[in-house]
Amino acid sequence: MFYTMGNCCSLGKHSEEPPKTQLSESASSRHHQDHVGPEALTPPKASPGGGARTSKVAPIGPVLGRPMEDVRGVYTIGKELGRGQFGVTYLCTHKGTGEQFACKTIAKRKLVNKEDIEDVRREVQIMHHLTGQPNIVELKGAYEDKQSVHLVMELCAGGELFDRIIAKGHYTERAAASLLRTIVQIVHTCHSMGVVHRDLKPENFLLLNKDENSPLKATDFGLSVFFKQGQVFRDIVGSAYYIAPEVLKRRYGPEVDIWSIGVMLYILLSGVPPFWAESEHGIFNAILRGHVDFTGVPWPSISSGAKDLVRKMLNSDPKQRLTAFQVLDHPWIKEDGEAPDTPLDNSVLNRLKQFRAMNKFKKVALRFIAGCLSEEEIMGLKAMFKNMDTDNSGTITLEELKQGLSKQGTKLSEYEVKQLMEAADADGDGTIDYDEFITATMHMNRMDREEHLYSAFQYFDKDNSGYITTEELEQALREFGMQDGRDIKEIISEVDADNDGRINYDEFVAMMRKGNPEANPKKRRDVFV
Ligand code: ADP
Ligand code: MG
Repeated sequence: MFYTMGNCCSLGKHSEEPPKTQLSESASSRHHQDHVGPEALTPPKASPGGGARTSKVAPIGPVLGRPMEDVRGVYTIGKELGRGQFGVTYLCTHKGTGEQFACKTIAKRKLVNKEDIEDVRREVQIMHHLTGQPNIVELKGAYEDKQSVHLVMELCAGGELFDRIIAKGHYTERAAASLLRTIVQIVHTCHSMGVVHRDLKPENFLLLNKDENSPLKATDFGLSVFFKQGQVFRDIVGSAYYIAPEVLKRRYGPEVDIWSIGVMLYILLSGVPPFWAESEHGIFNAILRGHVDFTGVPWPSISSGAKDLVRKMLNSDPKQRLTAFQVLDHPWIKEDGEAPDTPLDNSVLNRLKQFRAMNKFKKVALRFIAGCLSEEEIMGLKAMFKNMDTDNSGTITLEELKQGLSKQGTKLSEYEVKQLMEAADADGDGTIDYDEFITATMHMNRMDREEHLYSAFQYFDKDNSGYITTEELEQALREFGMQDGRDIKEIISEVDADNDGRINYDEFVAMMRKGNPEANPKKRRDVFV
């Protein structure tokens, strides 16, 4: 029998009569029992760091918890690009620059209870947390007005991977392996940043442009959550074809993402989903049975390596299922292609290493900026901190740091861990507290936004002369307990491109923006312990 992906209920938007939700009541999120209007909820406290935002006289929005703002003041909203279960996405154009973006609009009347609102809030937090990661759609800004929440994101003009699969039928093994490699790297990034996506499917992977080799970007973090090692989730969320069996059994962790992309791999290779039935109930039964068929066309002509990988990703036992790291190590994914080009590593480790290599000036500037960030911007880092602080003491000890790093597969010597510890421990008390952790790890989250950089510069430039002088820098380092009197001149000369003995705003911005390993590969060597 031949069936296409488009003829089942859960792919609502592609079927003739779109169901209201992708899943039945039991399986849909943002669909809880107690109906409380958003108005009934007390808005969360506006974050103390959101200084610039909170100073405006506008009512605080109950979803994002910050002053309401009309997205149409900044962007012109254009044609519809797509719609999912919760949002409609439109093309939008920045009024000032003419640059095009995508704006996902979520109608607040669809957010019927506290959990729904939490979901949207978390979607924004998680996108902030992941912004700057390659192959993840970048969030530019979030707005809330009376009717809706609007997420302005980078535009993916190439449409959904779903539509490309439909247009192609299926992919060659080589093309599928290359796509899967990117997809697994995205999952690895999410997991190492403490995020489980929970709704991976071809509709949520977008193509940046219309080229055959367009970069792929993951989006739709509307069902995503932060997770701690060993944490067990119970809510049934996801989209029918892609749901892992342990989700249906209400006891699961991050392994569910690997299952979902295992389903995607099966579809990429054959054009049909592995667990299929006319009804949602039937699909769930097939998933729970867990039998993966390799007898039909085109499987007999597909390599045994591909089948081996599909089988290992669709292992019903999450403990035995391959991890993202192991998938990337599977011979099939490497066959014909290059080995994964970016080495996978622990994001906390990477960040600490880079922080360690920074000069004190930059560290102090980051500490200042950390204080300007809103709760939603640092939520993800907070989750990573809590994940490491196993005894919930509010500080990370040397032992916790060592354990946290080794949990992610990093083996470091006592000496190396100690060095990282010392780099982050600004006050030298032998532990890393929350503020120190945020300062030391936030620099890769694209927190170098113009407004923050500008206020940091102004903070250093005490006399408003437009320049930071040796004396001003000395004073700032003292204020943050970071001075040791030794290398201030050295720091200045390192940053002072025009050699006038002081630092202007451009030089300051250049210092803050450099040191990202992708942007500056030659410097890479310098950032390791
Ligand atoms: P939902 O939570 O409702 O599923 P999504 O974030 O998946 O919302 O967005 C719905 C659809 O809108 C996507 O499947 C896609 O077609 C389109 N879309 C979303 N984000 C973008 C983007 N950044 N660029 C282009 N189209 C997008
Ligand atoms: Mg979606």
